[in-house]
Amino acid sequence: EHQKYIRNFSIVAHIDHGKSTLADRILEMTDTVAKRDMKNQLLDNMDLERERGITIKLNAVELTYHAKDGHDYEFHLIDTPGHVDFSYEVSRSLAACEGAVLVVDAAQGVEAQTLANVYLAIDDDLEIVPVINKIDLPSAEPEKVRKEIENVIGIDASDAVLASAKKGIGIEDLLEQIVHKIPAPSGDVNGPLKALVFDSVYDDYRGVVLSVRLFEGTVQPGDKIKMMNSGSEYEVTEVGVNSPNPVKRDYLMSGDVGYITASIKDITTTRVGDTVTNANDPAEKELPGYREMHPMVYAGLYPTDNAKFDDLREALEKLKLNDAALEFEPEVSQALGFGFRCGFLGLLHMDVVQERLEREFSLDLITTAPSVTYEAKLTDDTVKEVENPSEMPDTSSIKQISEPYVKATIMVPNDYVGAVMELCQHRRGIFDTMEYLDDYRVNVVYHMPLSEIIFDFFDKLKSGTHGYASLDYEVEDYRASDLVKIDILLNGEKVDALSFISHRQFAATRARDIVGRLKNIIPRQNFEIPVQAAIGAKIIARTNIKAYRKDVTAKLYGGDRTRRMKLLEKQKAGKKRMKAVGKVDIPQEAFMAVLQTD
Ligand code: GDP
Ligand code: MG
Repeated sequence: EHQKYIRNFSIVAHIDHGKSTLADRILEMTDTVAKRDMKNQLLDNMDLERERGITIKLNAVELTYHAKDGHDYEFHLIDTPGHVDFSYEVSRSLAACEGAVLVVDAAQGVEAQTLANVYLAIDDDLEIVPVINKIDLPSAEPEKVRKEIENVIGIDASDAVLASAKKGIGIEDLLEQIVHKIPAPSGDVNGPLKALVFDSVYDDYRGVVLSVRLFEGTVQPGDKIKMMNSGSEYEVTEVGVNSPNPVKRDYLMSGDVGYITASIKDITTTRVGDTVTNANDPAEKELPGYREMHPMVYAGLYPTDNAKFDDLREALEKLKLNDAALEFEPEVSQALGFGFRCGFLGLLHMDVVQERLEREFSLDLITTAPSVTYEAKLTDDTVKEVENPSEMPDTSSIKQISEPYVKATIMVPNDYVGAVMELCQHRRGIFDTMEYLDDYRVNVVYHMPLSEIIFDFFDKLKSGTHGYASLDYEVEDYRASDLVKIDILLNGEKVDALSFISHRQFAATRARDIVGRLKNIIPRQNFEIPVQAAIGAKIIARTNIKAYRKDVTAKLYGGDRTRRMKLLEKQKAGKKRMKAVGKVDIPQEAFMAVLQTD
């Protein structure tokens, strides 16, 4: 029957090992995409993905493979991101599949995210098909990498596919292995509909488009469906698959991966991880769904134009459909007005959210410096969660502040172990273990404050090891630290959005650094601006931004009103991403100044 010829699989790997390029070759080999429409990393279809050369979103496509046994197989391939900030996309993709193609770079070997991602797949009981990619590289060592896959990951790699996604080598071998190794889906086609929502996106015309994997039953236009979690019901308007462009189908059935639209305009009723069933013949139990993701970092997002607050709310709600890990709630800043405190999985995630809001929803935003969530134990023994440094209670009412610690796993050639340890130590890391993976590669484990890792740690790690180190981390627990809140005052006024938390030991140096940096970032105005950093009432660093000597416009354009207007217009445009706080204009960079360390 139908399901026997279906194979559902995700492609997983460490970033840059060639997942998206391998997907290209598969699309080509199976004539899914016409030669003239082919382009590199075709599935990275978001502008942002193409510009940055990374995959941000999972992407599911259907293709047909004519196998050597003479049968046509229907493949559903899901390309996934490799970066740690987007591992939620990977775990959701895996839940829709029976197998995972694990790509390992023949020159780089197993790296931190290789392990993290393959373990997600193993936890889900997926069949793993290992591929050793980039064998065309002069530095490729496929046999060594084969052993590494066996020793480090612990899976059989004796018949791992040797491939070059770039040169198109090994692709047929891979497709055959997918047919023979990955099991066909096995759900009951005649049972009540059970479809897992693994992604969604808002479309202005069609409403919410649900990406689904059917585990039981069938669905077709006209069916009345019910979202098991929210209880809301809709009539299906269209079903189909992406190939890679959307193609309508008469129906989807158990084993299929595709999309459903049902004129869903109320975006609050659908949630990734929910189960879609048939309202007239409902399933008894919903599918397991996904574990909730907890944001690692929080930052304030404010429209540069205060009137755009409602637009920002609507944009966040729509974006959340396509970015299930995003969290937000309204907040008010004395300095910045009305905005949202948003939770992200990391700084890249935060960056991507801001960019998508600006591009896809035409907003101009100011982002405040990201912060982890602290726990303040108060003198009355209650514990307050602090997601925004400016909300840290007064020192007099705090017994103890705790911060999140992560277990950081760093894989690195042994030549660089010293550099890695020095960096970790410098960032308040506590050494755990060091283990040789083979003759020259080492796995170093540290316990570190999350706040020390999320900012520029990864960049420092890469530059300190000539790009050879790879990093993975997960939050372990909260530990008490000697932390203080530092406030920044401009022109004598506290700017709440610039407050930050620092370890007491580094407070004075960081305060001096930041005050100095703000001096360079904040444009001069026609009066002198004192810049101060304070712990409570105590000023610990200060400087001044000198005033302009003369009013430039008055001198140059004194008489000519239109030219003067033009100049003001220009200045206004240049002021985008600037926020007037009191009498001082603060540019976006100022809010990020507290992030830089060195
Ligand atoms: P992803 O992050 O895993 O999706 O990796 P990409 O598919 O975006 O590829 C990362 C980089 O590796 C790109 O510059 C590709 O051109 C390159 N690449 C991918 N596969 C191969 C290969 O087989 N050989 C060589 N030499 N380069 C490859
Ligand atoms: Mg990719």
